[in-house]
Amino acid sequence: MNYIDGKWTPAQSAGTFESFNPATGELIGVAAESDARDVARAVDAAARAFEKWRKTPAPRRADILHNAADLIRERKAQIGELLTREMGKVLPEALGDVQEAVDMGMYMAGEGRRLNGLLVPSELPSKWAMAVRDPLGVVGLITPWNFPIAVPSWKIFPALVCGNTLVWKPAEDTPVLAIEFVKLLEEAGLPPGVLNLVTGYGVPAGEALVEHPAVKLVSFTGSNEVGKLIAVRCAQLGKRVSLELGGKNAIIVLDDADLDLATDGIIWSAFGTSGQRCTATSRVIVTPGVGSRMAERIADRASKLRLGNGLLATTDVGPLINKAAVTKVHEYSGIGQGEGAALLAGGDYATEGDLARGFFYKPTVFDRVTPNMRLAQEEIFGPSLSIIRAASVDDAIRINNSVNFGLSASVYTENVNKAFEAMRDIATGILYINAGTIGSEVQLPFGGTRGTGNGHREGGGPPVLEVFTEWKSIYVDYSGRLQRAQIDTDELVK
Ligand code: NAD
Repeated sequence: MNYIDGKWTPAQSAGTFESFNPATGELIGVAAESDARDVARAVDAAARAFEKWRKTPAPRRADILHNAADLIRERKAQIGELLTREMGKVLPEALGDVQEAVDMGMYMAGEGRRLNGLLVPSELPSKWAMAVRDPLGVVGLITPWNFPIAVPSWKIFPALVCGNTLVWKPAEDTPVLAIEFVKLLEEAGLPPGVLNLVTGYGVPAGEALVEHPAVKLVSFTGSNEVGKLIAVRCAQLGKRVSLELGGKNAIIVLDDADLDLATDGIIWSAFGTSGQRCTATSRVIVTPGVGSRMAERIADRASKLRLGNGLLATTDVGPLINKAAVTKVHEYSGIGQGEGAALLAGGDYATEGDLARGFFYKPTVFDRVTPNMRLAQEEIFGPSLSIIRAASVDDAIRINNSVNFGLSASVYTENVNKAFEAMRDIATGILYINAGTIGSEVQLPFGGTRGTGNGHREGGGPPVLEVFTEWKSIYVDYSGRLQRAQIDTDELVK
């Protein structure tokens, strides 16, 4: 069911689609298959709710976010389990996904008592100069399946606390989680029409949201392919668009690194969430003194990872999201071998026993990958890791910066000077020193450079407010006479 104007309603077409557990094939639920008519109803409801919501004091709006964060925390175990069942990631990671929504809810609830504007001196006497943040109006949110609770929370909570009303189109692979999330927000006390949910496919539902003239902002997280289409369309329509797209993230291991620590970070960052994080490590760049030792350690650890249902405590790595994803990863295994990379581990579907019921792929490691190979340049979005041998520290940084993505990067070194050089020279949105490429926190900006986005930052930190508000500069002249800026100012200093 869609959630429009505070009511749970079927799609106008009465169409539905099903959501399955990617580990077992079990049916998780059924959702409304929406089209432009449903989107139009949701946008109308959001537009009607906007006047009242924008005039609700921000601390009162924030109270509802606070309630929502409390409810999510209370139901964390339940939502986490559903998350593993619908999306596949192992339970501890699913609980982390849910926890991120709690964190974001709390953080943005605090913003309700800040929403800092600007107050600056005027160049004229008896004149007040300030700038405040206005909401945009109705905003459209489009989200992927890989962080089905966390990523929506990065958009929903800031959009709401800033006074926008919204229509959310979640990914077609995780609609049941979206419905559960919206139920919690409803229970937290959101008035009808402030948040509307429209489930369905990218085309027609997502596309209709982008096209609707009353939608002032499209906040999109997903693939580069779709992000580019949306960016072009929003430029033509004159709308604001915030894009959070893919990654090709690297961990650089320097000769002086603690190799045990680096190996732990690599395995966690490359194969956590089966490599399906936008910040997942898909390249390891090694300097000459440690290359062979690192390759051996990584291949050994990767081949020992236990695949299975993410609800089992014995599972290290869960399934991929769907058949297309597992097929794509396998295609890249073929491409890598064709390009002359050395396959050290995996490289095939995992189909033993119960694994045959789901979309499992063996953690895959390639060595001797060169920077221009497709393996080293393209986002695979699965458990596939490429080791690239660099000639020096500078070469490693150059290789890191040579891809058309710039989301997350990491450097392992015990040398503080080298760490600071990396902090200066690596072109990236997020950088870790002596930690893997995954694991951001909501109080800092999240997003990337180059093809990873269009310069906005969501996911947290004060810059998220820039996405969801419009600046309004206000001058109040209480001098009681005509005062002309830039003209009457000279007389004042005489
Ligand atoms: P996707 O682009 O296929 O889909 C994302 C969303 O867009 C879905 O809701 C989908 O229905 C919708 N969509 C598809 N076509 C559309 C269209 N023509 N118009 C409007 N909406 C449309 O991506 P995905 O497979 O769901 O997610 C994986 C991708 O997301 C990866 O590339 C990953 O790196 C990226 N991602 C990025 C971040 C980040 O913050 N940078 C976070 C998570 C995932």
